[in-house]
Amino acid sequence: MPHAVPPRSPPARAFPCVAAVVLAAVPQASLAGPHPPPARYLSYPAAAPHAFGVGPADRTLLVRNVRVLDPDSQTAQVSDVFVRGETIAAVTPVGLPGPASADQVLDGAGRTLLPGLVDLHAHSWGNPSATDADPDQTLGPEPTAELLLRAGVTAWLDLGSREADIFGARDRQRAGHLAGADIHAAGPVFVPGDDPATATDGFARVCSDAASARAHVRDLARRQPDVVKLIYEATRARPGMAQATLAAALDEAARLHLRTVVHIYHWGDLRTAARLGATAVTHLDDAGAIPPALVALLRRRGTAMIPTLGVQGEMANLIEHPALLDDPLLRALVPAALLDTYRKPLVFCKKAAFWASWQPHVRALNAESLRRLHVAGVPVLVGPDAGNFGLFQGFAVHRELEMYVAAGLPAWHALRLATTDAGRFLGRRYGVRAGDVANVVLVEGDPLVDMAATRRLWRVVWRGHVQQPAAR
Ligand SMILES: [Zn+2]
Repeated sequence: MPHAVPPRSPPARAFPCVAAVVLAAVPQASLAGPHPPPARYLSYPAAAPHAFGVGPADRTLLVRNVRVLDPDSQTAQVSDVFVRGETIAAVTPVGLPGPASADQVLDGAGRTLLPGLVDLHAHSWGNPSATDADPDQTLGPEPTAELLLRAGVTAWLDLGSREADIFGARDRQRAGHLAGADIHAAGPVFVPGDDPATATDGFARVCSDAASARAHVRDLARRQPDVVKLIYEATRARPGMAQATLAAALDEAARLHLRTVVHIYHWGDLRTAARLGATAVTHLDDAGAIPPALVALLRRRGTAMIPTLGVQGEMANLIEHPALLDDPLLRALVPAALLDTYRKPLVFCKKAAFWASWQPHVRALNAESLRRLHVAGVPVLVGPDAGNFGLFQGFAVHRELEMYVAAGLPAWHALRLATTDAGRFLGRRYGVRAGDVANVVLVEGDPLVDMAATRRLWRVVWRGHVQQPAAR
């Protein structure tokens, strides 16, 4: 059951029977219009500025002489960044009069400052080992929030975890009692089922029909979920959620101004979810690159896509490039013994072996789908589906960005998707301008030249507080 299960049973995303597919020439120019309609998520109200109360409201921080990347304007300018409390108060180009001092001053010379990364598809259960003999890394919401922050991921959207745990952690954080990356959460996932009383251990809401779907949305709304997450695999060869049930859930969520994210399996699922008004859909079918008619539909409807290239390719990448497992940031985040299980394809557990077997055949198709979406102006967002095989909390979102660039997206654009656009999806200001939340990272090197530079963290600033990253 995808996304509704604890560690050791990660979602069974699998795409068997993908034969060699010849990539057709993409009619990109004909798809790209000058003015795509706005993303559907922009129609939702922005969240009121919210301080977590992590320090005195008038405490100040000055980062001097740092190269600031603003993904919205695509400008890089050496500036002084002044933070008051949890908010960026001013960004002043060097040479202009700016704040002279602060409670804390960092010299950012030679470094690059950009908004902290935001992961829009993660799960907080932990990281799985690839063998049966070695233990998983068990996390949960609070350790995940801490781990992500040390990896430079300053906010995340949990798209399916045990309801009480994830909302509990999120609410404690919003009340000022918990540090770590900003938590946004769906809570449980909505799944089909004949019996709403099915025991799900808090990971799922079982919707037997349209009426129960509406009732679950209304009930969940009391917990103020940041999105409602639905599993819609109607075209898969097993009983899936009925279209009327999905329609009812999406309609009820829209009435309550709740954003929705629909997990899809085949292109037909995506078509239905977009037509019915989902705010976003997640995953790609890799039976073939996304058909142009579907790209046009997503564009027309303003439906956002969270493609999750990672969950459909990173295991294969790790097997082909085991040096990735030696990355200093990754090794500071995940136990070495667990990482080393990914070096042993011959003794992978059955499920890991299966994942490793299909991914090599679908990576190129997924990259092609992403290119088509990008060229057409479909709103794309970034979230690798961390918590699944080969997708380690925090590290995975850096890698997802690298995959976007490898697929052909401009680095500036990829950075915007994972920062300011992610903030817009969540109704938050996650940028580098006055008034934005002071969630930023300082890195060595230049992500515009080599996206892997986002992994070379020098400092992480969360809500105005300077943190040491996991690896220095
Ligand atoms: Zn997921």
